[in-house]
Amino acid sequence: MTETIDVAGSTLERLAGIVGAANLLTGDALAPYNSDVFRAGAVPAAMVRPQSVEQLQALVALATGAGMALTVRGGGASYTDGYIARDEGQLLIDMSGLNRIITIDAVNGHVTVEAGVTWAALREALAAQDLRTPFWGPFSGLRATVGGSMSQHTISHGSALYGISADSVLSMDIVTADGSLLRTGTAAAGVAPFMRHFGPDLTGLFTGDCGALGVKARMTLPVIARRPTHRPISFAFPSFDAMHESMRLIARERIEDTHFALDAALSQGQIARQDRAGASIGMALSILRSSPSIVSGLQQVVKAGLSARRQISAAKYMTHYIVEGFDDAEVRARLHRIRAINEGLGREIAATVPAVVRAMPFAPFYNVLGPAGERWVPLHGNLPHSAVPDFHKAYMAFLQSREAEMKALGVWCGSMFGAIGSGGFLYEIAIYWPDEISAYHESVVPADYMASLPRHGDNPAARACATQLKADLVDLFATHGATNFQLGRAYPYADRLEPAPLALVKAIKAQLDPTGLIAPGNLGL
Ligand SMILES: Cc1cc2nc3c(=O)[nH]c(=O)nc-3n(C[C@H](O)[C@H](O)[C@H](O)COP(=O)(O)OP(=O)(O)OC[C@H]3O[C@@H](n4cnc5c(N)ncnc54)[C@H](O)[C@@H]3O)c2cc1C
Repeated sequence: MTETIDVAGSTLERLAGIVGAANLLTGDALAPYNSDVFRAGAVPAAMVRPQSVEQLQALVALATGAGMALTVRGGGASYTDGYIARDEGQLLIDMSGLNRIITIDAVNGHVTVEAGVTWAALREALAAQDLRTPFWGPFSGLRATVGGSMSQHTISHGSALYGISADSVLSMDIVTADGSLLRTGTAAAGVAPFMRHFGPDLTGLFTGDCGALGVKARMTLPVIARRPTHRPISFAFPSFDAMHESMRLIARERIEDTHFALDAALSQGQIARQDRAGASIGMALSILRSSPSIVSGLQQVVKAGLSARRQISAAKYMTHYIVEGFDDAEVRARLHRIRAINEGLGREIAATVPAVVRAMPFAPFYNVLGPAGERWVPLHGNLPHSAVPDFHKAYMAFLQSREAEMKALGVWCGSMFGAIGSGGFLYEIAIYWPDEISAYHESVVPADYMASLPRHGDNPAARACATQLKADLVDLFATHGATNFQLGRAYPYADRLEPAPLALVKAIKAQLDPTGLIAPGNLGL
């Protein structure tokens, strides 16, 4: 347990002295922030919102000097206990005030941002110059920050061609436990952060650390020219094995910018969202605006209303691709290749889902609740392709063994899938259960959508079932050799490392955070 010293009096006053009283929150005001999508943490002493990197440094130095542990909250879009307090009396540092885009250097091909900038804000600023980052954000990018995603390992937009979040960063400015600033990439040599590699990869060290090694203050990401043209394409598959084989083969050829795949349970949830979105003229206009031409845009809108619902509710598994190119001929050639690979595996269906995703890549947080207002928590494992069929069978058997209990309590699961590079497969399972929503949901779900959903009362039995399912599935993944992104405190890491790498990770942690006050418990450290 972390010792909590002096939190009620002078330390809080001194923290407020750094950020100003308006940027220090205590008591009930903390409820929406000290909760992630899944659950609430122990009660922190306070949350502070630094407005500059200098303030961030001063806060970290003051807290650790006073023996106060701290965690960092980016956009708060995670669900693995990564930023919620482990122990009472911790300090929560909210990065939303550090959201500046510092420089867009088009000549040298990079952008430098403060870590609290959202992916949506970054995309908009770069688009004004016809630029983008290679990986350009998770679906949660309306709130999720560049710092949070780099800390967790994140996939989605741009991942098919350019890899995960960690593959799209050059340099970081890290605040270490004593409040000093450590620079990585070429900036470690006191020159501009124009490249990542100069000796050992110090930038890579801080990717996926869940904040356990220090606080990311600023970072520099590569930028590339935006491709002017894109088209969506979707397929339905009769079986999991056919879908997986199709994804494996397509991933090997690196054809598309972005893809994702869904089972029937999640597709129908998705459709519920689309019905809602489709009711709005704004969404139709949005599809039109982002379509390659007015004609194809109109076709998409018509398809959205007509054919997709029937096709999607009939499909067991579906894959969705967003393909980019310099011109339509290139895009069509890429689509042709995807169709050729899928011959004999699946059939093409209306590409409504990826069209909607591309029109609104960073949607409001509808999905943090189920289609009938249920609570939602996802978990996942990353598997080598050869281990996927066995895991899938084991998961189906697992679901069957729990069916009676889940049915009785109204608990259900759906799955989402993605390829990671050419070798890895992300198998994500979303658990839904009827239960009370939290202050977190009240603060992030759009009010009009919330008003349209049924409300559920406090449901300890369903919650216990969902929590046990989550724990058992984390174990099931591990027994099949899966690893994880977004480790936080929810997935085992230190416990799974061999002695030599574990000793190295512990030595690095001790060097950067000798008293263990930064994000205690994250990564199992
Ligand atoms: C609706 C929805 C859709 C999602 N879609 C995707 C998706 O498409 N792909 C995907 O991979 N994930 C997805 N996620 C999960 C999540 O949004 C991402 O992992 C995202 O990257 C989290 O970023 P954040 O800024 O919200 O981080 P937070 O949740 O605030 O923090 C995550 C972790 O990073 C640490 N951290 C945050 N900022 C810093 C910093 N500056 N320095 C040090 N440590 C820091 C925190 O302490 C914590 O351990 C989704 C979540 C939701 C709710």
